[in-house]
Amino acid sequence: ARPESGGETSPEKLLVPVLSAFWDEAESWTLDTYRRHDGYEGLRKALAMSPDDLIAYVKDSGLRGRGGAGFPTGMKWQFIPQGDGKPHYLVVNADESEPGTCKDIPLMFANPHSLIEGIVIASYAIRSNHAFIYLRGEVVPVLRRLHEAVREAYEAGFLGKDILGSGLDLELIVHAGAGAYICGEETALLDSLEGRRGQPRLRPPFPAVAGLYACPTVVNNVESIASVPAILHRGKDWFKSMGSEKSPGFTLYSLSGHVTNPGQYEAPLGITLRQLLDMSGGMRTGHRLKFWTPGGSSTPMFTDEHLDVPLDYEGVGAAGSMLGTKALQCFDETTCVVRAVTRWTEFYAHESCGKCTPCREGTYWLVQLLRDIEAGKGVMSDLDKLNDIADNINGKSFCALGDGAASPIFSSLKYFREEYEQHITGKGCPFDPARSTAWA
Ligand code: NAD
Ligand code: SF4
Repeated sequence: ARPESGGETSPEKLLVPVLSAFWDEAESWTLDTYRRHDGYEGLRKALAMSPDDLIAYVKDSGLRGRGGAGFPTGMKWQFIPQGDGKPHYLVVNADESEPGTCKDIPLMFANPHSLIEGIVIASYAIRSNHAFIYLRGEVVPVLRRLHEAVREAYEAGFLGKDILGSGLDLELIVHAGAGAYICGEETALLDSLEGRRGQPRLRPPFPAVAGLYACPTVVNNVESIASVPAILHRGKDWFKSMGSEKSPGFTLYSLSGHVTNPGQYEAPLGITLRQLLDMSGGMRTGHRLKFWTPGGSSTPMFTDEHLDVPLDYEGVGAAGSMLGTKALQCFDETTCVVRAVTRWTEFYAHESCGKCTPCREGTYWLVQLLRDIEAGKGVMSDLDKLNDIADNINGKSFCALGDGAASPIFSSLKYFREEYEQHITGKGCPFDPARSTAWA
């Protein structure tokens, strides 16, 4: 299943449908369908191990967090202190909100039991009797589907008391947030789950030490947890046979924007955007790729020069960006990069929680400058000002939202400074002069 090079880009060779294997089946979300596809077999294997052996197994598989940061999942579980007499909690971060990121929502909608099975396995490993799914509040159909899947799992004995006779008791609560991007930051999420306004906490202590209700807590992304049952069922060596040594396994890539066939493509880590585009029909007819994000708008943008960068943590990092959420937003030559960056920056300014000055004030000023430039009212010194403000946000903010807001500024100025200058010298947007006056 390793991605091949040299034009070998047929879907059969490159795609590895695991989590998405039966999304197209009728009623893919039911327990019956899931069990027809070996659902809950991974759990049986997990419960036959000791919790410590299970953690070691997942650690050895090399699974890395799919929420964006790529932190090793088994290692995170291992951080939970044992024999401390405190309750332990598992919290699934289902507050997917990064611009362009759209994998966890369809995953929970089409295959919720993979997540529930993963939750039971992870809870057994970290000795937790209470687990939570913190879901983005706007996605009511997914909320309903999760509630129904949880009900089915309780009824079948996969949740509740003495699961499959193992002695494990587990209560699973599905909680809907109120639609704030910052509540996807793990500590803001915990505050929100405790009933407070969601704002990031100082780290350390990390949630593994003091998380929900100040108790040891694992916060994992939906896709990370949903990937665990397949690793148990098919084996860690199968998982490690895909991807690279440091970034093993399969993952969901979300292709969006000016492409012929947007959607979820499940493939080994290390595939390239060129391969994904080749197999999926490419950019829309008659157009070419101008810029793209490897992992949502918080990750520095790439251009068509980066089509062959291996999409794994090391490959993307070496090329100057981050794999992030694997949200591949593709823009063609008709797109104004200043307009796109303005729109993203408006998002960050709107979603900034206001706790720290660099992000709260900086994102506001970035938006003012960008709108002026886009409307043809900018001056050349604005470009240095943009860079300077982004520099005062980056690494100086309280949480990753600030760094994320600075990232498209830096990368767009790096690759498309000329386009900014064109807006200034031409006194408007070269792509859409009519729209630029709308800002005036
Ligand atoms: P991080 O690297 O600070 O932490 C990653 C995880 O590892 C966290 O769970 C953290 O608790 C844990 N961790 C790190 N060091 C630890 C230690 N020493 N001890 C115990 N635990 C430790 O990243 P982050 O700030 O949590 O997340 C940033 C990422 O989130 C970005 O890479 C971005 O791509 C992603 N993101 C995703 C979305 C989305 O919608 N999925 C939205 C915004 C950002
Ligand atoms: Fe809030 Fe932004 Fe500061 Fe994060 S960086 S704590 S979102 S103000």
